[in-house]
Amino acid sequence: MTTTQAPVAPAQQNTSTDITVEVVYRGIFQKTLAQRICRGVVLAARKSGHPGTAFARYGDSPERNGVPAKQFAVVAADDTQLEASMARYEPSVVDVTVAVDDTLVKGVESWAWYGRQPIWKPTKADGFVIVTSDKSPDEVLAQTDKAERPYTLAIVPGGASFAGLWVYKDDHTDWRVLGAIAKVAPEWLPLQQVKALVREQTKDETAVASVQFGHDATVFRPVAVGEGTSGHEVLQFEKPGWTTMRPGIVVDARKPGERNPFYKKYGARTQRPVVNFDTCIKCTMCWLDCPDECFEVTPTGHYEVVYEACIGCGICAQVCPVKDCIVMVDELKFDENQDKWQLWQKDRAAYNAWFEQKSGVSAEPKSKAAAAATGGDD
Ligand code: SF4
Ligand code: SF4
Repeated sequence: MTTTQAPVAPAQQNTSTDITVEVVYRGIFQKTLAQRICRGVVLAARKSGHPGTAFARYGDSPERNGVPAKQFAVVAADDTQLEASMARYEPSVVDVTVAVDDTLVKGVESWAWYGRQPIWKPTKADGFVIVTSDKSPDEVLAQTDKAERPYTLAIVPGGASFAGLWVYKDDHTDWRVLGAIAKVAPEWLPLQQVKALVREQTKDETAVASVQFGHDATVFRPVAVGEGTSGHEVLQFEKPGWTTMRPGIVVDARKPGERNPFYKKYGARTQRPVVNFDTCIKCTMCWLDCPDECFEVTPTGHYEVVYEACIGCGICAQVCPVKDCIVMVDELKFDENQDKWQLWQKDRAAYNAWFEQKSGVSAEPKSKAAAAATGGDD
């Protein structure tokens, strides 16, 4: 069921003394965006007399490109409550989780811990998971881990924003998300206060309109226990206790050609490359230029992507000289990480149908010589 009716916000359900919002984002690319959202929550709440603070998770610093990271905003009824809330190193339970890239719903594997966590892991029962997405709530839910507690999924229209790399070029994702937070937690963040704050900060009525748009256009989808997917890999590891640790701090190096079994890098991906083996001219460029050494040489001399290792940087697609031979595709279109050359070997028609369905481009083999000679513009 999809509804635009506002469910009861967390702050209205009990006499809550504080509210915690976490913003899950892609490391470095979205850091400034996450900061702006968390600061906006705190500054808007202050307008209502509620003290608050914004902070990043210590374990996520230094960040890595694309790797999931978190920042938090805590707002309390008074200074004493805020101090009590801040005694925690990292909130283990939050009222609202915000994901500013919808592919994060496939699970969050930070470099700072072992394993993959569902996006809703710290979200309290009957809390909210706000996701920026251009997809429907049901499409997003189909890629979200099966719920263990009821919550409300809230979709804010918009794609993944990379406005905040080094210089922040505001695309209003921050303002739309603040509007959505005002919708789910009006007791703490009244819409008018958020708009007043944004008006003060930007002197830009289009930014204020984006707050209103985020508020009005956010769609709610109540999620019951058991809804979602159980298709994602379970990635939990036994950590050594003090009795089994070796003396000193010993970190085993990986052997040449071996990949780290404890850290699967696919959680860093917003897009993944798909390869048209029929048009590949075996030039080796992708293999040479991939910064994470993700390509394996196949017995036919083609290069296949190891999807467990690919971080989705897109360099292979940029260096490939053949047009549409490597296409970057939205990560939410996939529900597995199997390497694909074997399928192409076994059943080319089936592979090419898969390639076309995922990439949206034709898999029809072109003249390899023509493609190479024209730089792919045939
Ligand atoms: S997108 Fe391409 S270049 Fe980047 S990590 Fe993946 S396979 Fe390597
Ligand atoms: S860069 Fe493109 S053409 Fe060259 S080997 Fe890789 S996939 Fe094939």
